[in-house]
Amino acid sequence: MLPADQIERLVQELCAQHGAACAARARAGISQIAARWRVEDGTPDEFAAFVRARFVGDDTKRACLLARLEDAVFHVYGHLSEIRRMLHRWQDVARTDDPGIDDLLAQFSPAPDLREELYRSKLAFVALLNFPAVPFAEIFRDGAAWPVEHWAAVRTANAVAYRLPRRLDDQARVAHQHAQEFYYNFHIPIDCITLANGDKPFAAGRKLLAHWLVREEIRAGYGASDGLPRQRVLTRVMGRHVDGSIPQAVMAGAATTWEPFSNACTAAAGVNAAAQVGPQRYAVWHELFALARAADPFYPEYPTHIQRACELHNQLPVAHVEQVLTELLTAPARATIMQFTQQRLQRPLEPFDIYYNNIAPREPIAELNAAVARRFPRFDALQEQLPAILGELGFDAATATFLAAHIQVDAARGSGHASPAALPEYRSFLRTNHANGMLNWPGFVTAMHELGHCIEQVVSLHHVPRRALRGVPNLGVTEALAFTFQEFARPLVGVPYPPQYEACMALNTYLNACEIAGASMVDLACWRWLYAHPAATPEQLRDATLAICDEVWQQHFVRWFGHDENHLLGAYQHMIGMMLYLPNYVIGHVLAHQIRTHLTTHDLAGEVLRMCAQGDLTPQVWLQRALGQDLSPAQLITDAARACQTLA
Ligand SMILES: [Zn+2]
Repeated sequence: MLPADQIERLVQELCAQHGAACAARARAGISQIAARWRVEDGTPDEFAAFVRARFVGDDTKRACLLARLEDAVFHVYGHLSEIRRMLHRWQDVARTDDPGIDDLLAQFSPAPDLREELYRSKLAFVALLNFPAVPFAEIFRDGAAWPVEHWAAVRTANAVAYRLPRRLDDQARVAHQHAQEFYYNFHIPIDCITLANGDKPFAAGRKLLAHWLVREEIRAGYGASDGLPRQRVLTRVMGRHVDGSIPQAVMAGAATTWEPFSNACTAAAGVNAAAQVGPQRYAVWHELFALARAADPFYPEYPTHIQRACELHNQLPVAHVEQVLTELLTAPARATIMQFTQQRLQRPLEPFDIYYNNIAPREPIAELNAAVARRFPRFDALQEQLPAILGELGFDAATATFLAAHIQVDAARGSGHASPAALPEYRSFLRTNHANGMLNWPGFVTAMHELGHCIEQVVSLHHVPRRALRGVPNLGVTEALAFTFQEFARPLVGVPYPPQYEACMALNTYLNACEIAGASMVDLACWRWLYAHPAATPEQLRDATLAICDEVWQQHFVRWFGHDENHLLGAYQHMIGMMLYLPNYVIGHVLAHQIRTHLTTHDLAGEVLRMCAQGDLTPQVWLQRALGQDLSPAQLITDAARACQTLA
């Protein structure tokens, strides 16, 4: 850091050369680069020479410099992102060939030292000398009044503002790889589960990926006549996943019987039936926490990962995120909604009923599959029919053709997803599942969800006013659009909406939002605990997580769902492997309801094009301009409570 008097001398020099009007801008720019300039970047004389040579005083020339830097950043990040997308493709798409290196290709980073290189080449210094890197608090306060040129300047400077060393990028790839290997491979064998009466309720060879498929299997129990005992035993399995008490023999597939309530387990001879999994998942989490802490010093305005997750990545103040969570869970209307749920289930609620969200009656799956097959005789027909689908959703012919030409449908290897193009000459990838070359109902609903993502991605790449504004404010916004499009799956294959569908949707959305709001509160509290106890062992982190789960449950869930010995709020694998991702879902559900409500009374196609063309503003500015509203769960809560009357 340069002493203040030397900075001031340089400011005076620049004023003499370019006029006194540039003083404030010069002072800010010089301070920005002085804060990042290291010994290896040059001597103080070289610093001064750089400032004299690269400070742009003339407004026209400065606008030209911004346009050039904006284009350069767009292409550098864009091409690198396209390389990574290409190398990831073989892992993401269903394929028959396997040369045995696709995992390495997916991890390969073509430019792990990009941030360092931007500084070594002095490009980042030029950007930061001439344009303001503005911390979130200021963007949040002032952004609404900014002209688009200023947004572009801020986004361009912010894109190069953090000087992260290569070693952190390397560590991040290793830690995330470990985490993924752990949570994508944590399949719990359930075929050995034995009920107290000796029944084995699950088919031979059956395994469930924790937590995702355990939760879905609990959900599948609703409506089945023999569902309740299976739901209860799977809830206990979930509890043992959270606290690490699943016997190792079960995970190894060596158990012949397992009674999850007592945890009694019998195993093949020579296998230790008493050993348990232990706090592995908390070790995974702690490795990611250590990574976050190592990055902290490089983000002076966001000194913790909690702030980076909320403010830098989601562009929402931490307090605002927490307010949304609390508002959802403490809404007085929740009492009415919980009573309604209890009436629907015709029994007192149990802890696992936090997962209940199936308000609308469901048609037999065979009927839905048949409706999809009538429109799409083969999986490939989805790509061919994209322009027609978009036309039916209200896009004019030219726009439908344009959008469809920028979306490529692929068969996913794992779960469905959408991957955005980073350059206009590439296409968004829409990935969903097929069954033996046929599109079925779940695959089609996923396709419609991903189509929402893809439309957002194409519009917010091609139609934003400046390249630096590519994208949307956060994941919640894009999820909201995806949820909205997902709801059009029915009319597109000629299946009518069930009666009072909108009321069902409002209620489902609220129940989903509450469930994940509880988990998000635990997630945030655990990250705070980690920062307060950075040297914690995995065992200590586990114990703290269990205690935090109890606390949040006691505060927001026990009244409706009773005592929960299974710490269900700690079950999501996102907590241990995705670094404070859960609040995105809550924001997504809340926004989805706000956007969906707006679109029921507006022209869907026109509004989606208009909203997504605004680009990467803050969510607050984006929403004000899109809907004339702020982010708030108030409407969702009101509509969910009203739905209880409609559906009673
Ligand atoms: Zn999505």
